[in-house]
Amino acid sequence: MTDLTRLTAADLAEKLSRGEVSSVEVTRAHLERIAAVDADIHAFLHVNERALDVAADIDRRRGAGDDLGPLAGVPLAIKDVLVTTDMPSTSGSKILEGYLSPYDATVVARSRAADLVPLGKTNMDEFAMGSSTEHSAYGPTRNPWDLERIPGGSGGGSAAAVAAFEAPLALGSDTGGSIRQPAHVTGTVGIKPTYGGVSRYGAIALASSLDQVGPVTRTVLDAGLLHDVIGGHDPHDSTSLAHEWPSFAAAAREGATGEVLKGLKVGVIRELPDSGFQPGVSASFRAALAAMQAQGAEIVEISAPHFEYGVAAYYLILPAEASSNLAKFDSVRFGLRVNVPGGTVEDVMAATRDAGFGDEVKRRIILGTYALSAGYYDAYYGSAQKVRTLIQRDFAEAFAQVDVIATPSAPTTAFKLGEKVDDPLQMYLNDVTTIPANLAGVPGISIPSGLASEDGLPVGIQFLAPAYEDARLYRVGAAVEQLLVDSWGGPLLDRAPQLAGASAGDANGGAR
Ligand code: GLN
Repeated sequence: MTDLTRLTAADLAEKLSRGEVSSVEVTRAHLERIAAVDADIHAFLHVNERALDVAADIDRRRGAGDDLGPLAGVPLAIKDVLVTTDMPSTSGSKILEGYLSPYDATVVARSRAADLVPLGKTNMDEFAMGSSTEHSAYGPTRNPWDLERIPGGSGGGSAAAVAAFEAPLALGSDTGGSIRQPAHVTGTVGIKPTYGGVSRYGAIALASSLDQVGPVTRTVLDAGLLHDVIGGHDPHDSTSLAHEWPSFAAAAREGATGEVLKGLKVGVIRELPDSGFQPGVSASFRAALAAMQAQGAEIVEISAPHFEYGVAAYYLILPAEASSNLAKFDSVRFGLRVNVPGGTVEDVMAATRDAGFGDEVKRRIILGTYALSAGYYDAYYGSAQKVRTLIQRDFAEAFAQVDVIATPSAPTTAFKLGEKVDDPLQMYLNDVTTIPANLAGVPGISIPSGLASEDGLPVGIQFLAPAYEDARLYRVGAAVEQLLVDSWGGPLLDRAPQLAGASAGDANGGAR
């Protein structure tokens, strides 16, 4: 029998709608996979104990002839930054341990309404601060390709769950790269939508002007299917765009024909120094561009002189917004309270925040508070906002010449656990190519471009498009995916050694 966990969401949905499998069977297969491998991977912080009941209800309604959505019955993993009424939402922090939300995040509510089956909540760096998931208060997630390596961050749990076939689909959030960089290091697909394209309501805020929720999947089509479910205007989010979005699944299907590559103008940034990139990452990037060129794409060198200041500006804007967003964890309204006998309210607040927040969170709160303080506001926060405007102008000028911009999705492949965790600056530099999109609000996609020759680990290529042009990314992403998967003779994840050998369950049926 086919191993249901190896199928894409699109294939599962088709089998479900034809009645060839039930949602209970599909959900059970994924729960068994989680039971078999998640002790090693630790992608999940919480597994939904009601998943099979939800699946059974969907099967019953399908049997009764109810009209169900295109992904009905397909399981979905949910990053723990998204609040849920039936499972705890911790955002990877001790301060929210066991916290139950009185409402669902809009993306969660829409997924439930579309009859996806919530499988559980995935691990992440505390409050989405990080690039390795090592800042989770609940221990790191491991990369399914090599258990000694990081799965990326902050959404390492969602990416690892999808890469390890524990879930066909996952939700992530991307403030500076937390969907795209984990996709890069795990050989999966991740999309940061246009700012305002997907609701942030119920996404525990990190930096509100940068945060965006999006899909984490194994194929571009699956991402499009999920984006169609979660996207669109939400009156609960004041930054949500009132825009009529096209179907992203349709865009992905159209893109798979490859037509879009003929005459496509692909911008490559002159100022991105090759020196900062691992040789195998650069080589994979150039090979993907050459493959596109062979199909009629035109590679155009563009200038984006301010991109190199993106990381610096981001690490002022983000801590500034985060320090203000995290002020709500005050020991009174949410989560943890550390009592101080005989102490004042301030004493309780200080003791709670001291015990509840990890080092990286404290570091950023201090940085942000400093950057916003009177006397430094203009010098730091004000300057960073000016850089943000310059980066937006770089994008506007670039997109006057090209249809998409391409970069490697991150400078290196998955590094070893522990390698950068004590070196914040090295950790921050992971997001050099992803951060500009958040600063400018434009959409970005990362798809696998191959394996780095020196370590055999996955590499991603990122495409960026103008705001509102998410569908273009689905077309281009699906075209390049098809081209590369054909050249490899099958999906990249089929070559992940650790997956085939993962401990107990031989759920892969000897895929090695
Ligand atoms: N790695 C980046 C950071 O630490 C991005 C985080 C994110 O996108 N949530 O801030």
